[in-house]
Amino acid sequence: MFANERETMKITDIKVTPSLGAENRHWSLLKIFTDEGIVGLGEWAGGPIGQLKRMLIGRDPTNINQLHYDHLWQMQGRGAGVEIALWDIRGKQLNAPMHELLGGKLRDRIRVYCDCHSGAHWTREDYARRWQETRASGQLDPVYETSAYVSMAKEVVAEGYTAIKFDLDVPNPWKLDAYDRSISRRQHHHIVTTIESLRQAIGPYIDLSIDLHGSFNLADALRICKDVEHLDLLWLEDPIRWEWGNVAALAKICQQTETPICTGEIFYGAKMFRELMEQQACDLLEPDIPHSGGAIEIRRIAELAEMYHMSVAPHYMRSAITGMAAVHICSTLPNFLALEHHSRNIPLWGTMLDIKNPIQQGYIDVPDGPGLGVDLDEEAIAAALPAGVPLWS
Ligand SMILES: [Mg+2]
Repeated sequence: MFANERETMKITDIKVTPSLGAENRHWSLLKIFTDEGIVGLGEWAGGPIGQLKRMLIGRDPTNINQLHYDHLWQMQGRGAGVEIALWDIRGKQLNAPMHELLGGKLRDRIRVYCDCHSGAHWTREDYARRWQETRASGQLDPVYETSAYVSMAKEVVAEGYTAIKFDLDVPNPWKLDAYDRSISRRQHHHIVTTIESLRQAIGPYIDLSIDLHGSFNLADALRICKDVEHLDLLWLEDPIRWEWGNVAALAKICQQTETPICTGEIFYGAKMFRELMEQQACDLLEPDIPHSGGAIEIRRIAELAEMYHMSVAPHYMRSAITGMAAVHICSTLPNFLALEHHSRNIPLWGTMLDIKNPIQQGYIDVPDGPGLGVDLDEEAIAAALPAGVPLWS
């Protein structure tokens, strides 16, 4: 054997779980098996894995850069969920936590912000149903009354969260029709007075963010941003639509309001974030883990953001396995602000790992065990499936 040749580990198999159901946001978990008996845990975005197996079986899982640039980046967020399992394998092989592989942690615990949605937590199904019912009845659903937002805020802050987020582009009876992008005077009043009531309820020192999901036109969204400047939002998220890629329009909003503007949850990879930063079209960034990338791309985005004096507050809606990868990644970023928690209404999020209820007083401790430093509670996860359905295949 030549000096530069060494025995390498090989990927021998990949297995995934079925969808864990609508109540668990259709999470699907992934395991990568190796010829050294080390198994890596990751997340799969759903669908068949034949092509993934053809790409990865027989490859060395320990050269993560190589697999990323050969294959995974082309799969975007789907590939980033797989990348998580590679870090888990490498960490287990070296008996080192993932954050050490990334250069070391800067903090021992990660601040989490709670995504509350409204007076009730968001599910795709409830949201669609409430729009239908509101259009039929002409009445605001009780969960979108200002008082319901305030009750939720008090409940979540009492659990120890120091940062919370609400949605205010929600089902309401004041739209012209289903396609209307304007904000009527009545809806404007609801949005502004709800944020005022939230600030009053939580006091001056809890961080409050508002998401508008790109629902509105520029002029009306800008007016909201200016009319809530006195309420010291941590950020206002996606005032105008992301997919149209009009960075100049977002820059116009950003430069005309003191309300900090945040965006980025739908973009993949550092290249897509570069223009936002170059044009100073936002004040902070929310790359999604894993939709925007795994450790490789998220760290590139964050390092670039650092050069533009921007903080990052990663968006995140997946299972607790991806959550723990996010915790490791965030522990290494100097410009980290807060990590999203969008699953307070999903019990499995808190029971699916060997560490139960990882969020305590609004923080998650950074694991120091090898790899991700956590294991699955497969009994708890299997209970989400119908009887007789195998967990892994
Ligand atoms: Mg958002």
